[in-house]
Amino acid sequence: TGIVIHTNLGRSLLSQDARQSVAEISSTYSNLEYNINQGERGSRYNLIEDLITKITGAEAALVVNNNAAAVMLVLNTLCQDKEAIVSRGELVEIGGSFRVPEVMKLSGAKLKEIGTTNRTHLSDYQDAISEETGIILKVHTSNYKVIGFTKEVTNKELSLLSKKIDIPLVEDIGSGIFIDFTEYGLPKETTVQESIKFGSDVVTFSGDKILGGPQAGIIVGKKQYIDKMKKNQLLRALRVDKMTIAALSATLEHYIKEEYFKIPTLKMILTSFEEEKKRALKLKRILRKSNSYCSYKVDEDYSKIGGGSMPLLNIKSAVLKITCPKYSANELEKILRENYTPIISRINKDELILDIRTIQDEDFDEIKNAFSKIIQVEKV
Ligand SMILES: *Cc1c(COP(=O)(O)O)cnc(C)c1O
Repeated sequence: TGIVIHTNLGRSLLSQDARQSVAEISSTYSNLEYNINQGERGSRYNLIEDLITKITGAEAALVVNNNAAAVMLVLNTLCQDKEAIVSRGELVEIGGSFRVPEVMKLSGAKLKEIGTTNRTHLSDYQDAISEETGIILKVHTSNYKVIGFTKEVTNKELSLLSKKIDIPLVEDIGSGIFIDFTEYGLPKETTVQESIKFGSDVVTFSGDKILGGPQAGIIVGKKQYIDKMKKNQLLRALRVDKMTIAALSATLEHYIKEEYFKIPTLKMILTSFEEEKKRALKLKRILRKSNSYCSYKVDEDYSKIGGGSMPLLNIKSAVLKITCPKYSANELEKILRENYTPIISRINKDELILDIRTIQDEDFDEIKNAFSKIIQVEKV
């Protein structure tokens, strides 16, 4: 599809090491909650917490089922029966109807909306502070952008305010980004490390968006707040299983070793157009050999990061535009979709499009087989 993090298609692919770790942990007993040195009960969260704090520079960390659960746990722990001050421009709905206002209500926090859709000022936050205030909340508007006459207060400014009144500043940044995208020619996106450095006390993000790991919600921040969350009974209902911990640990190890291209999601986002074009030409040669009935053209097009991240960003990519006589693009799309291993493509101007950026080298064979069957159908 050319959408790297496609929520309908399972978001991030796991790295080889992550898959291996899941296989290992699920085939034998492990020290999930056992302290081997002391021969007694241990914590499910210790090891993974070390990895996350090492990468992010945060004092403490906690992992739960997904980012929605992370937001829920943070609000319930720090803001139950109190007010969370949030800008009207950040009251977002994420796909699958995750609505910030609804989650807040369920968590027991009271929503204190401030500012307007397009402009919120520091004074709006200041004016909203009262005895009732539990937290100041910033939510990353992951899947849309307000453009034009806009004003947003940065977390640097908010952290000065929150420190002055001794109220935690909580930030839901949606996608967990640990590396500087500008080094790869992509636009600037705030990293988790920067959110912490700029003064957010608690930051939440997903494990399976740009981070490139399994479904998980990660909470990082000040130890005093994370410790409270660890004691919240709600955590038991939101906790992650050993396979998630194994996959996430292996993914985090890649960051520690700076092996970013071993993480499929990052590799797909960061691979250059020139490199993708070479791969597209290779797939074209393979397909032409297996099915000379259809015609294939390598062209320039754009991929999307998806997963509600960087909605305006188009990444230049190489695509195969495919037409087969007697088949419309829609028919072709259906044939591929109904292949034993479904191949999900897109259509533009009556041409079937396969975006090479979201096709792994290991997928080439399956695509070749699917196309070889298209001739057979024609021959019958
Ligand atoms: C994606 C997203 C969520 C939900 O995360 P899940 O891991 O899908 O539960 C919450 N907040 C923001 C800002 C997001 O972008």
